[in-house]
Amino acid sequence: MQPLYVVINARDNVGVVVNAEGVRQGAEFASGLRAGEAIPQSHKIALRDLAAGEPVLRYGATIGYANRPIPQGAWVREDLLDMPGAPSLDDLPLATATPAPLPPLEGYTFDGYRNPDGTFGTRNILGLTTTVQCVAPTVDFAVQRIRAEILPRYRNVDDVVAVTHTYGCGVAIDAPGAIVPIRTIRNIASNPNFGGAPLVVSLGCEKLQPVRLFSKDLPVLQEASGVIRLQDQRGFQDTVAAIMRAAEVRLEELNRRQRTKCPASGLVVGSQCGGSDAFSGITCNPAVGFAADLLVRAGATVMFSEVTEVRDAVHLLTARARNREVALDLIREMRWYDEYLAQGRADRSANTTPGNKRGGLANIVEKALGSVAKSGTSALDAVTSHGERVLAKGLVFAATPASDFICGTLQLAAGMNMHVFTTGEGTPYGLALVPVVKVSSRTALLEKWPDLIDLDAGRIAAGTATIEDVGWDLFRTILDVASGKKTWAEQWKLHNALALFNPGPVT
Ligand code: CA
Repeated sequence: MQPLYVVINARDNVGVVVNAEGVRQGAEFASGLRAGEAIPQSHKIALRDLAAGEPVLRYGATIGYANRPIPQGAWVREDLLDMPGAPSLDDLPLATATPAPLPPLEGYTFDGYRNPDGTFGTRNILGLTTTVQCVAPTVDFAVQRIRAEILPRYRNVDDVVAVTHTYGCGVAIDAPGAIVPIRTIRNIASNPNFGGAPLVVSLGCEKLQPVRLFSKDLPVLQEASGVIRLQDQRGFQDTVAAIMRAAEVRLEELNRRQRTKCPASGLVVGSQCGGSDAFSGITCNPAVGFAADLLVRAGATVMFSEVTEVRDAVHLLTARARNREVALDLIREMRWYDEYLAQGRADRSANTTPGNKRGGLANIVEKALGSVAKSGTSALDAVTSHGERVLAKGLVFAATPASDFICGTLQLAAGMNMHVFTTGEGTPYGLALVPVVKVSSRTALLEKWPDLIDLDAGRIAAGTATIEDVGWDLFRTILDVASGKKTWAEQWKLHNALALFNPGPVT
């Protein structure tokens, strides 16, 4: 392969090396540019001489300032850049550049499950929700037996999943931050893939009582089989038997569900990235953004999240908001997170990982500009807080930390029934409740992990596919997987633990 770099925006003064082996010192690119030193794949090369203090531009935006003169052809490493400050939240544009609505995309469907509450499932799963960690091993034990002894008789049910977590007691449950984990558990219990009727296992003496979790108006608490209190049972084996009996009642109900034709507007797609590299913002994230536009056009809900990865691009998003209120909602979430990080004496720069840097991302600014490409080009329709249920259609920012497992957990609470996960460095991430479609930023990752990566976007950098091609591929893959086609993570049953976000104190 000839030495090759890609440039995203005509204003950029750096390019990103595409060649899998990197380029050697003296390598000459088609433009006539020569590499002044060996530069690894996905790292940046200076397109011209940069003076000390000059902005380094990628995506047409400043990702840093040269802290010494950088000659043309040099490897623009992390240590040559000073990071710019985060955009101020006080004078952001509010809905000043709201995009016109995209033309509707009609006729696309998937074979899913219709729920009584109007939501749509992509899998048919029995969920056992727990109110406190104390009961988790007992429930896990019961779930193993249910899977082995009962589930095989209910062919239409995909799985039995215990919603276990570390919350529920030993916490300041009246502190303002407690609302986040509490509503996360409540909303996961009614995720569309659970069919809408939670089965709850409680200990009895915990702070997070079932009534507090669901409010006593929910029908679940009036059903004999809806809540099992361990402290009402006689011994471990009787307890397990009670859970298994209640599970069987629900399995009979769930087994009557059939896949039927559902409109694509029933999809609630959560997107996030993990193990990003400098290709992520060129290949997989723009392809996800293209698919996001298709989903919005089809009337679906598309979520993007990860506050620290949009913080440095917030000015682009507030301008794109549907209206001033949505822009102000986004600013509220950014401000809340700035304060949360400040309490822990950190800032957004704590986000980047050694893998991000090995993959060529100099800092969080460069990472964020690549990350928000997942949001596509449509107007930002709504913003929700951590763990809230998303009710809006269209493009939604659902606030979450960027941590893969916490983001996934909060997107489940938001009502996600399909997850798209982009990765550059690679992670075998998967969730038990919804299918996870993993999209690679580089073809080398697909070649290394052919039985973990579902779709390769690296073809875009190699020039063998366009962003549109891969975006359409992803859109069709989402419909296929929503209809029951298994992802690699499902095939291997790779289920990362649910991880609650608890900004409140522990006692
Ligand atoms: Ca993430």
